[in-house]
Amino acid sequence: MIKSLGYAAATAQSVLAPFNFQRRAPQPQDVVLEILYCGVCHSDVHVARSEWGASRYPCVPGHEVVGRVLQVGGAVSRFKAGDLAAVGCMVDSCRVCANCREGEEQFCEKGPVMTYGGPERHTGGITYGGYSNNIIVDEAYVLSVPVSLDPAAAAPLLCAGITTYSPLRQWKVGPGQRVGIVGLGGLGHMAVKFARAFGAHVVLFTTSPGKVEDGKRLGAHEVVVSGNRDEMKRYRNSFDFILDTVSAPHDINAYLGLLRRDGTLCQVGLPPEPLAVSAFSLTGLRRRLAGSFIGGIAETQEMLEFCAQHGIACDIELIAIQDINAAFERLVKGDVKYRFVIDMASLARDAG
Ligand code: NAP
Ligand code: ZN
Ligand code: ZN
Repeated sequence: MIKSLGYAAATAQSVLAPFNFQRRAPQPQDVVLEILYCGVCHSDVHVARSEWGASRYPCVPGHEVVGRVLQVGGAVSRFKAGDLAAVGCMVDSCRVCANCREGEEQFCEKGPVMTYGGPERHTGGITYGGYSNNIIVDEAYVLSVPVSLDPAAAAPLLCAGITTYSPLRQWKVGPGQRVGIVGLGGLGHMAVKFARAFGAHVVLFTTSPGKVEDGKRLGAHEVVVSGNRDEMKRYRNSFDFILDTVSAPHDINAYLGLLRRDGTLCQVGLPPEPLAVSAFSLTGLRRRLAGSFIGGIAETQEMLEFCAQHGIACDIELIAIQDINAAFERLVKGDVKYRFVIDMASLARDAG
């Protein structure tokens, strides 16, 4: 077993606090990472607070991990000590079902093993995520980090990046298309960057007037403050594709109504409560409502290479782990520019 120090929520009502625990003894196919940086995803808040149903505790969140390889098992071929490597939302899956074989491990028929709060098959316990000083992962679920990427700004690519890259690719967003992005947070700001890089005409919808200039700087051709009903009306029936990244309850019909004939709204934000969909929003122009969940391992690697080639990274606020509870509060208020990333060197203050 390997000793670890992390930050955990003990219950749904607890703040995160230092937590000592053990990880499995490394197996021949395992990579042991010293974690350098971990992004703070809104899903970490949903899960730490049991907002999606009963979470398992203690909960050590974190699935946007970049680290340095400390050691590798004898069966590992793609990594060696000293390499920069990354781990995203999954650390295992069955590998034999149709979805796993087709590189869509996130849809594994047995259920992918999530990086935190999932079943740790070797110990019989639960998986603990990246708000910690190390992690042990089978090399098949470890990503290579291209050397040209800044490791701190690359960390959120492992969830916010792939979660937006994958649907934009799936729906073949590109030149000649009008694409709407709803919400400018961690996912939203990456969606704006990718949609722009893929050549679409990008319109950002935000509830925050203070984010308009940033939206344009990040790549949106137009930014609409969604509270302004007159402005919203101007965009009716005009979008080929809309990606909705909002984390809280909101009126999805207001966005469905912006789709043109046969247009698709893809939901990636995961508000804890169901969203009310008016059937009329869909029938009117044969519109489609879809969803997407992170992305497969190969596609995640492809996304990292795309970012390296096109100079794309996340806009981050680097924080100490001791500030994680304040960061959660700001995230809930939509107040982050545009992803918190924990500098894991700060964890040393809690050691000893
Ligand atoms: P985030 O950084 O907090 O961004 C969410 C954004 O939504 C906010 O910045 C805000 O943007 C907007 N928003 C928040 N509350 C709102 C409200 N009440 N009404 C309207 N807009 C509101 O969160 P994130 O990390 O990007 O995650 C977004 C959601 O995606 C979360 O629910 C998360 O769990 C989910 N997620 C899903 C997947 C997947 O695979 N499908 C993967 C990762 C995360 P504005 O200020 O611009 O309005
Ligand atoms: Zn996430
Ligand atoms: Zn599978």
